[in-house]
Amino acid sequence: MSMLSFPLTPSYLDHLLELADVPWCCDAFDAAFQRRGWARPASGGEPAVGWLDHWPLGDPDPLSWHVLLGEYPGCSRTDDRSVACDEPECHEDSFLAFPLAYAAIGLTDSVTEEPVDPRELWGDPLPSEGVYTAHATRAEFLACYDRAAHLLRARLGTPLRTPPPVQSDPPERQISWVRGKSLVSLFLVDNVYNYSQDDWIGIDIRPLS
Ligand SMILES: [Zn+2]
Repeated sequence: MSMLSFPLTPSYLDHLLELADVPWCCDAFDAAFQRRGWARPASGGEPAVGWLDHWPLGDPDPLSWHVLLGEYPGCSRTDDRSVACDEPECHEDSFLAFPLAYAAIGLTDSVTEEPVDPRELWGDPLPSEGVYTAHATRAEFLACYDRAAHLLRARLGTPLRTPPPVQSDPPERQISWVRGKSLVSLFLVDNVYNYSQDDWIGIDIRPLS
């Protein structure tokens, strides 16, 4: 199988986990992404960050990694983008999912018979300058999960006993922690965003519901 992975370092993970402390509203995420160099200042009255899609983390876009963003954050009772509320119904399907690895299992090019690069499974180019391994093993893929789990446990302590499933129901693997008002989860699941052509491992951050 082929694998595309992001080389997660402890300091990058810390950088990522700080997003669990951001108030769940557009303005706060615009500011957080701009501070990290992940978004330009807002223009034309639109939020600086476009949710509901993959968002490139840096510039130039094709050479960056990316994060998957769910529904726009905020409160459904107001158009004020500075309002973050604690109502669970305002946060349904709003999340941030940072991919750590994609694995395309059993997919080969019909001409070359070489494994298909997970980047080629998308209709649009995916900003994904990562580590590509054409012939990876399942153990190598799972090692990405185990390494992230180790780093997360060191930071967030004991995980929840029965966390709500994130990203899919049920994921193949998931460990979740509470950080402030957020649920932080490590998951391994088939990738419904490209019709389950590959599996992915990632870190999901969303408001506690
Ligand atoms: Zn609300």
